[in-house]
Amino acid sequence: MRCPRIEVDLSKIRRNTKTVARRLGPLGIGVTGVTKAVCGHPAIGQAMLDGGALGLAEARISNVQRLRQAGITCPVTLIRTPMLSQVDEVVHFCEASYNTEIAVIAALASVAISKDKIHGIILMVEMGDQRDGILPENLADIAQQVMKMTGVVLKGIGANFACLSGVAPTASQMATLATLANELEGVCGPVLKTVSGGNSANLPWALGEQTTGRINDLRLGEAILLGVEPVSGDRIGKMHTDAFTLVAEVIETETKPTPFPIALVDPTLARLHIVPTSGATTRLILAIGHQDTDISGLSLPVGCALIGATSDHLVIEVNRCTMKPGSEVRFQMNYKALMHAMAAPDIEVKLLNDPLTKQPLQIQGKSEHLTLVWKNLA
Ligand SMILES: *Cc1c(COP(=O)(O)O)cnc(C)c1O
Repeated sequence: MRCPRIEVDLSKIRRNTKTVARRLGPLGIGVTGVTKAVCGHPAIGQAMLDGGALGLAEARISNVQRLRQAGITCPVTLIRTPMLSQVDEVVHFCEASYNTEIAVIAALASVAISKDKIHGIILMVEMGDQRDGILPENLADIAQQVMKMTGVVLKGIGANFACLSGVAPTASQMATLATLANELEGVCGPVLKTVSGGNSANLPWALGEQTTGRINDLRLGEAILLGVEPVSGDRIGKMHTDAFTLVAEVIETETKPTPFPIALVDPTLARLHIVPTSGATTRLILAIGHQDTDISGLSLPVGCALIGATSDHLVIEVNRCTMKPGSEVRFQMNYKALMHAMAAPDIEVKLLNDPLTKQPLQIQGKSEHLTLVWKNLA
């Protein structure tokens, strides 16, 4: 099999989506699956939809194009406010977009009119993350301007937390968003179909004690893909944290006496690593590097220590080693490592449990003598 590769277990993405959708559904909150970390990979988007996501959201038009080219027809919302230079594509490929600039909304409207379409507008409200968003005091004014335009329809409002600031939303901020929605409808009438509370960092709030009020949508990427809550990094409930595995190949092994003599050319702390000190260790060189992923976001297998990485090499040290050149080492990735690796041209994406290819189901652990295969009952 080709290396380096990312193995994606689509059944785990489906089940993770199902788990959050089932828990949020009774609260009146629908799940929008966010595919930006996987560059709009269509099979992964489809797995989210199969698991119960009501639609998909993307930050980049190129990724939306990829979804559409693969035949995905569900509603796709652009969650990064559109570039003025891309309003044509935004109207063409997306049902709706998150917006903060009236000039951009006006440009979307004029493209929509020329294409005889209606483009949905969700106004992003700034609630403390200090990234994109309209200040609450300006919201009603902008909403009224949008309502006067043809070609666009005001679909809802949304907020975003913990992306730039890394601070999770509080119950009182969420209550404020609900109040803003009510106040806005007081001015504009009952027009807000969507009140989108935020991203994966909202899950502790949504699944917590207090009521979720008017919030009826969450945009979830990391929680579905990696099974963790972004602020704490903690696993969520029974979610799978190993839907993605990065596999790299050993290209050199060498037993070195310990401690391995290190010449500290660059005496900065960043270059110091803790390595095992007992017994002889083996240094492995793998064919993967900074060019491919965020090395600091990799979880190494037990018994391995990271020595360092360069653009194309990863050096690890292991205590007892049976690896040879050609052996494979498997890593789990955090969100940043995943995001970079999915965009790396040299990394193959290998889909497991893809309903379209009906390949044999993966069996965990030792299973040399058993293979579970799909049986066609029809
Ligand atoms: C990235 C992003 C999300 C999804 O964030 P996760 O932490 O992956 O769930 C949702 N909304 C917006 C606006 C985003 O930029």
